[in-house]
Amino acid sequence: MSLKVGRLFGVDIRLHYSWFLIFALLAWSLASGYLPYGYPGQSDVFYWGVGAVSAAMLFISVLIHEVAHSVVAQRFKIKVNSITLYFLGGVSETAEEAHTPDAELRMAAAGPLISIVLGVIFYGIYLVGSFLPLAVVAVLQYAGYINFVLAAFNLIPAFPMDGGRVLRGIVWGRNKDILKSTRTVTNISRAISYAFIGLGFLDTVLYGDFNGIWLLFIGLFVNSSAQASMNETRVTQALTGVTVGEIMTKEVKTVEPDLTLQQLQDYALVPTKHHGFPVVKNGELLGLVTDEDVRKVGPEHWDDRRVDQVMKGMKSLVTIGPGDAAVDALIKLAKAGVGRLPVVENGKLVGIVTRSDFARVIQERLKFRS
Ligand SMILES: [Zn+2]
Repeated sequence: MSLKVGRLFGVDIRLHYSWFLIFALLAWSLASGYLPYGYPGQSDVFYWGVGAVSAAMLFISVLIHEVAHSVVAQRFKIKVNSITLYFLGGVSETAEEAHTPDAELRMAAAGPLISIVLGVIFYGIYLVGSFLPLAVVAVLQYAGYINFVLAAFNLIPAFPMDGGRVLRGIVWGRNKDILKSTRTVTNISRAISYAFIGLGFLDTVLYGDFNGIWLLFIGLFVNSSAQASMNETRVTQALTGVTVGEIMTKEVKTVEPDLTLQQLQDYALVPTKHHGFPVVKNGELLGLVTDEDVRKVGPEHWDDRRVDQVMKGMKSLVTIGPGDAAVDALIKLAKAGVGRLPVVENGKLVGIVTRSDFARVIQERLKFRS
């Protein structure tokens, strides 16, 4: 759902498709409402030109904001895979979370800080720049304003905004417990989300002011993110220090590549009630076959089709090593949208790790903590 537009500081910059629509809407609303009101008596070319350039300034401002996050992240040796730009912000996809409160605080604060700096620069030039062409003045005013909005929005002290992370960095630095501080900030986020929802509701319903809808949206957004962030942290914490080898199932039922689908059905799928099997010949993993692969073939062909003709081969198969971190396996599982990962060492199948293996371990480890 996004388009790669370039690469900065070793990070892929992507543009979410919705951005094009928002860009057009924003340029239009600036050209037809905001600009004629602030700068009356100008031509359509002026309004549309300034509107389009101002919308582009929002894009550049959000981009610089996100790049600031990733530059600081990289200083703390946290790899940033990509930045995807949305309308009022972007998402930096990092390979891992900050390791220390200090890193969290600095990474999160970098974005809003740079937005404030940009706001001061643009607005400062606007204030002293009366000698500049009017179109430039109008763009500067909007660019200054939008950077202050970006800073203010992102500094709301709630997840998933930068302000929430800044706050967690501070609390975490004091109590040295990331789980507890996440819980604290989650509770604060929830309270803030209810305040936004309440105010938005009052504003929209009682006063008929449609700006209230923005408050409602922000409230609902914060509310759902707060919960997601808590769950994620609990899971990550529970799996810290656990390797795939420790949680995988070692006794794996496998099937041979030259079985017919009918044999697979009769001797493997039906009796074991398992949904999939690794396909192995002489200890070497060749692929994975699931009941879905079988169902794609009509039952009348089950006698003349073999497992290796319908299985997912090694090229399209996501695997993991026994020494890898369990958290990484969980992320791979989620990203690939599969239920099980074969555990492979030097081409040989040594085990399999499934969603239920994770569920079991997470449950056990959380019991000991609470
Ligand atoms: Zn940010």
